[in-house]
Amino acid sequence: MKNLLIISLILVGALVGYIIFTTFTFSSKQIQPDPAEKILIPNSAIENFSRALSIPTISHEDPANFDPSAFYEFARFLKEAYPLSSSQLEITYINEFSIIYKWEGSDNSLPPIILMGHIDVVPVEDPTQWTEPPFSGNIRDGKIWGRGAIDDKISVIGNMEAVEILLQEEYKPNRTVYLCFGHDEEIGGEKGASAIVDHLKNRGVNAAFVLDEGFAITQGMVPGITKDVALIGTAEKGFVTLELSVSIEGGHSSMPAHETSIDVMAKAVTKLKDNPFPYLISQPVQDFMAYAGPEMNSFTSRMAFANPSIFRPLIISTLSKEPSGNALIRTTTSPTIFRAGIKDNIIPIQAKATVNFRTLPGTTMQDVKDRVLTLIDDDRIVIKEGTFNSEAPGSSQVETFGYETLHQSIKEIFPQVIVAPNLVLGATDSRHYYPISDQIYRFVPFYLNKDNISTFHGTDEHLAISDLENAIRFYRQLILNATSK
Ligand SMILES: [Zn+2]
Repeated sequence: MKNLLIISLILVGALVGYIIFTTFTFSSKQIQPDPAEKILIPNSAIENFSRALSIPTISHEDPANFDPSAFYEFARFLKEAYPLSSSQLEITYINEFSIIYKWEGSDNSLPPIILMGHIDVVPVEDPTQWTEPPFSGNIRDGKIWGRGAIDDKISVIGNMEAVEILLQEEYKPNRTVYLCFGHDEEIGGEKGASAIVDHLKNRGVNAAFVLDEGFAITQGMVPGITKDVALIGTAEKGFVTLELSVSIEGGHSSMPAHETSIDVMAKAVTKLKDNPFPYLISQPVQDFMAYAGPEMNSFTSRMAFANPSIFRPLIISTLSKEPSGNALIRTTTSPTIFRAGIKDNIIPIQAKATVNFRTLPGTTMQDVKDRVLTLIDDDRIVIKEGTFNSEAPGSSQVETFGYETLHQSIKEIFPQVIVAPNLVLGATDSRHYYPISDQIYRFVPFYLNKDNISTFHGTDEHLAISDLENAIRFYRQLILNATSK
């Protein structure tokens, strides 16, 4: 008995020692390059951004509402506003409205880089709710207001301004730089990003890395870290919609059958919600813990992230509490449409439910379907796949030319921020680019916090002038870093 106690104490002591050792040797992965010189941004950049926001390049769910004139105007505007890029770079239009700018490098043996953005924006639900009209591009209180300010005209204009400045400076890149701007990201990117990739693939392009939207410099949004955290998306979740329907004889509501179509569908949806997907710490979330962990304020958090296998239950329960944390570690289940019935005294024949799943990297559409079939276990329910389904793409690595160049460029322009990889919860156009690159990253250099996060696809979307200026500095620095070594 005594021996057992001694052995137990030794084991506990060894474990405590191990945890303390790993916590203290859990070293920072942040690099600290010298800050870049803060170049002067011309006033024309602000005017150009304002003008870009004033052109209503809206992607509508119903293609009948598409207005080509706004997209023609946008392409014309880019040509006028950026004369050097328009005359010195090769411009290709894809399906009329998506645009590729090719800036030829001096060394063809080097793989090119691709900087992405999308021209289109989502519609505005109620313009009267906006402080400034949504397509005004008005400038007030040091901010530029309008739909598309942060999603995603900042990427388009930020890159165009950066390239125009570099051309003025007579800079010559060694590797080729592509700027690729899709025109239908908000409705799936089939005619834009997907067609751009087909075009580039046919020309044998294989990019060193691709940069798209997805994350930003978050403020007060990473629990446990006071400093601002620039998150780089190294992967994104997949999108799987399943449409469930059941048809059972209806009738008069005064004599209901034991089980109606509504009962069957309600039970099916309840089973799906009551049985969430099991948790999974995917590669991008493991990478996030390795990069953000050493920067955590508290010793306890650093200890947990330094020993993720020991503290797994704690990490999982903490993340599961918040919807955003839960979505990082699970394929999520969201019933989004529920339809049955037309009159209060008729039992409907048919009931339908639409359920949207966001899959983790490694979980396939087939996995989702198999799980749904097993859980529902009712062959009266017919399951149909949604039209926009896409698999979760694989994760990009962090010890790569692309990630390291991004990390360095962010630190040179924003010296105070922490840089960490993470998993993007939504879908971006970059998922179409896997055939031509395996280093795909998602980051836009502006500050994202609780005040502006709701303006994404929402009301009063805007961008601080200082954010626009820093974005231009960032893209210029990124191009310099990526095309000079
Ligand atoms: Zn977007």
